[in-house]
Amino acid sequence: MSRIKSSISNNKTSIFRRFIQLTFFVVINYVIIEWIFSINLKSFEVFVKALPVLNSPRNPLSKGAGFVEYIFYSIAKGEFPFFIIALFLLFILFTNRFFCGWICPIGTIQDGLSALGAKNKTFKKETHDSLLKFKYFLIVLLLIIIVPLGVTKTTDIAFHNDYKENLGSWAEQPVGFFSLSEYIFVFFPNLMTEIFENWEETALEPLFSDFWVFFFFLFYLIVITLAIFYPRFYCKYMCPFGAIAARLSRYSFLKLTRSPVRCVGRAECGICERVCPKQIRILDEPYEFFTGNGECNLCGKCIDKCPYNAISIRFG
Ligand code: SF4
Ligand code: SF4
Repeated sequence: MSRIKSSISNNKTSIFRRFIQLTFFVVINYVIIEWIFSINLKSFEVFVKALPVLNSPRNPLSKGAGFVEYIFYSIAKGEFPFFIIALFLLFILFTNRFFCGWICPIGTIQDGLSALGAKNKTFKKETHDSLLKFKYFLIVLLLIIIVPLGVTKTTDIAFHNDYKENLGSWAEQPVGFFSLSEYIFVFFPNLMTEIFENWEETALEPLFSDFWVFFFFLFYLIVITLAIFYPRFYCKYMCPFGAIAARLSRYSFLKLTRSPVRCVGRAECGICERVCPKQIRILDEPYEFFTGNGECNLCGKCIDKCPYNAISIRFG
């Protein structure tokens, strides 16, 4: 009994976080509630349409499921989304990457995958550092492709139309192909529906109908498999939201702090670093405030597991 009590107290943030994650998982994707209880909650969509923070993936407003999707979608349409960018900045300023650790459904799925029982692995520091840059490369690539599309809408409409035609569905869903949430909640269910509805005539044909359909199926299958062994693989190395949030994280009021008095250091302990799913070298970070170069998602694992209660969250 005392062992159970101590396990609960060692994991109290994690247990509470799981509850919040599962609640948001269902609320954000409330199509799940509709499916389970055979009800129609379409009228609820007006509330989430106003703020694309917690959008249902089927929301036609942003052609996607979040802040970054909405921002890129607007830029591609030749609009600068001041309001959403301001909201995004305020969101990070006050909550840092709390969304990633506690709310994002893709984070929840990855946490579930890494809890399946496979031994969690980490990359060598140099490999990890190089892989971290990949998500920034994706954002720069997106900007290079999408900004000219938006700018030419008002400056050179002939070029704009040609360019848009060449980009095809990419112009409509700029972040879609780089977004695991878009794949899991939109592309994949659509593909499965197509396969099962026409199973007798076409079997698996829709999966091989187009090079990109098969490519993304295989690609995200690999990403999901890697997330079983490498916790938060997609968040760390690929997520477009993660890339932008990581760069803004240092300006947030909400950060972690480590007590120089209580912490006994790596040689005698180092538990916090071993449990961190984001592979942050916590003990190389400054004591006063740290974000792990923007990677910390405030999951609280290090807080729960530190035997000396040396880590805490600070606001200000
Ligand atoms: S788990 Fe706590 S005491 Fe141990 S190294 Fe980390 S912060 Fe220091
Ligand atoms: S530093 Fe702590 S709170 Fe941040 S991601 Fe790592 S374990 Fe979670």
